[in-house]
Amino acid sequence: MSNAAEPGEASDVPAASATGDQREVISWLSGRDAPCPICSYNLRDAQSNACPECASPVTLSITSPNLQHGAWTLATSSFAMALGFDVVTLILFGGVLLISGTAPPPAITLVGMCLAFLAILSGAGLFSLVRDRKVFQRRSQRMQWRIAVGIFLGVGLLHAVGGFASLAVAAGLF
Ligand SMILES: [Zn+2]
Repeated sequence: MSNAAEPGEASDVPAASATGDQREVISWLSGRDAPCPICSYNLRDAQSNACPECASPVTLSITSPNLQHGAWTLATSSFAMALGFDVVTLILFGGVLLISGTAPPPAITLVGMCLAFLAILSGAGLFSLVRDRKVFQRRSQRMQWRIAVGIFLGVGLLHAVGGFASLAVAAGLF
C-alpha cells in the first residue's frame, strides 16, 4: 500500500519541494512569533512546516492589505443573492403558471418582467465585478468598503422600488 501515509505527514509531499518549503518556513519562524492561521497557536521556533498543535500545513506567502475578503464578499454576495432571489421567484411564478396551464394575468406578467429585468441587472453587475476583480482590489480598503456598501444598498433599493412599482401598477394604483 503506497498511499498509507497519514494526512499531513511530510511523506505526502514530493521530497524535493517539501524539503525546500520546510526549510524556508522553519528558518522564517526561528525566533519569530507568528500565530497558526488555523488555530492561532504560536509557531515560534517550529521544527516543521506543520502546526505542532493542529497539524495543519503552513506555507510562506506574500499578501496585500488590499486583499481583504469582507468588502469583496459583501459586494459579490449582494449581486448573487439578488440574482438568486429573482431567478427562484421567476421559476416559482413560471412553474405555477405552467402546471396550472393558464395564461398569466397582465399583473403577473408585469411583475415577472420587472423580476427578469432586475435579474439581468444583478447578473451583469456580478459578472462585471468578477471580471474586473483586480480593478476592485487595487483600490484602498476604505474605497472597497464604500463600493461594497453602495452595491448592497443600491441592489436592495432597486429591488424595493422595482417590486413596489410593479406591484402597485399590477394592483391598479397607478
Ligand atoms: Zn494550528
